[in-house]
Amino acid sequence: MKRIAVLTSGGDAPGMNAAVVSVARSAALHDVRLIGVIRGYNGIIRQDEKLMRAFFAGAKKVIGDNEEDLDMLAALKKAVSGSMGGAFPDFRPLLNKYQGQFCLANDFDDFLRKYPEFMGDFVSLDLDTVLDIADRPGTHLRTARCEAFLNPVVRLAGVLNLTAIGVEGLVVIGGDGSFNGATRLCELGMPCVAIPGTIDNDLAYTEMTLGYDTAVNVCVQAVRQIRATSRSHDRPHVVEVMGRACGDIALRTAVATGAEIVIVPEVPWSVEEVAKKLQKEIAGGNYRATVIVAEGAYESMAPFDVYGFLMERGKQCYPGETISAHRLASILKRLCYDKDKQWVEVRSTVLGYTQRGESPSAYDAAFAFEAGNRAVELLRKNEENVVIGVKEGRVFSMPIFQALKLQDKRKDFFNRRLYNLVNIL
Ligand code: ADP
Repeated sequence: MKRIAVLTSGGDAPGMNAAVVSVARSAALHDVRLIGVIRGYNGIIRQDEKLMRAFFAGAKKVIGDNEEDLDMLAALKKAVSGSMGGAFPDFRPLLNKYQGQFCLANDFDDFLRKYPEFMGDFVSLDLDTVLDIADRPGTHLRTARCEAFLNPVVRLAGVLNLTAIGVEGLVVIGGDGSFNGATRLCELGMPCVAIPGTIDNDLAYTEMTLGYDTAVNVCVQAVRQIRATSRSHDRPHVVEVMGRACGDIALRTAVATGAEIVIVPEVPWSVEEVAKKLQKEIAGGNYRATVIVAEGAYESMAPFDVYGFLMERGKQCYPGETISAHRLASILKRLCYDKDKQWVEVRSTVLGYTQRGESPSAYDAAFAFEAGNRAVELLRKNEENVVIGVKEGRVFSMPIFQALKLQDKRKDFFNRRLYNLVNIL
């Protein structure tokens, strides 16, 4: 194996850079050249006529007079032009047979000079380039979603671009959407290994995802800071953290900060119930209670007329306005009373993107180190279509399709016992 590529896709997560660095170090150990793909799958899908012409001319020469393979190559040309629609034959045997030989770029820098259009798509990642980015948050390679990638013809163009630059394997760092993309690439003949990079920890097959621990640490730090003011003013606080479909950030933050109430997407809840619990805290003399709510938890809330409730109590509100951390605080204020029967001031903070902006924690950096190394080793052993994860504290790998299958049962993996403990204690 002479050349592999790496990309980051989906939402950015602390530790993505560290994983890229680990891939680069492991590749360098085996004299494998590493190419970085810019902006996720967007970086591989350029449909460039000049490159395709050169690719098919070169491939024809390599194949020589093998009629069967020439027919397959002609079908490949037709497929990538779009004239076959999405239903084309399996090109894997052809691409595997000539792996490395359809490469147009013995020297990658030469390739970029010849095809400068690709300069914004691919970069060479040698150790010197990457060592400085290991502890930086965000992703040096950039990330973006890529709608066009859902089209199989576009994906095929991606596989051919990678093949043309001699890439024999791809490391994809992202969430379950990105894993789906990686599987599709494998089906078209580009071996992929995936690393879970998402702060939400919303992947059922693994205990931890890259970025999750860092995000929780940011939240814990923020809640501690917020609590200083809660204590000083005797004011409860609603803190919204990230987690669209998964309440792990909220739950772990609540556990680590001793928050009194946690609200997550996995468990149905009602405003009245939360108010009752908060009122109990206040009646017991705890005026500084913290409510941690995951951003996706509003979806699992019992219906509540936010507009009607607030307008009736003299709070300016817009018709149709839905619940938010801010509105939840306003409502709780009007449902909770102090010992003088006065409403209790409840404040709110949405932590938002700060959760993604920290340097990776020791845990995430160490996981990135192991995962990056494992990804290169798997590709070198011709293991493809697999994803790396953590089970019982150990790094492991499993087929992507099996990992994705577990997503249907993701809610079953939520730690309900810990959730109950936070809300009961
Ligand atoms: P995440 O990887 O964080 O879950 P997304 O769900 O947005 O983020 O997925 C990232 C990208 O992966 C998408 O923009 C798309 O290019 C690709 N992708 C997602 N689902 C599929 C799919 N079913 N088939 C092919 N590509 C997909």
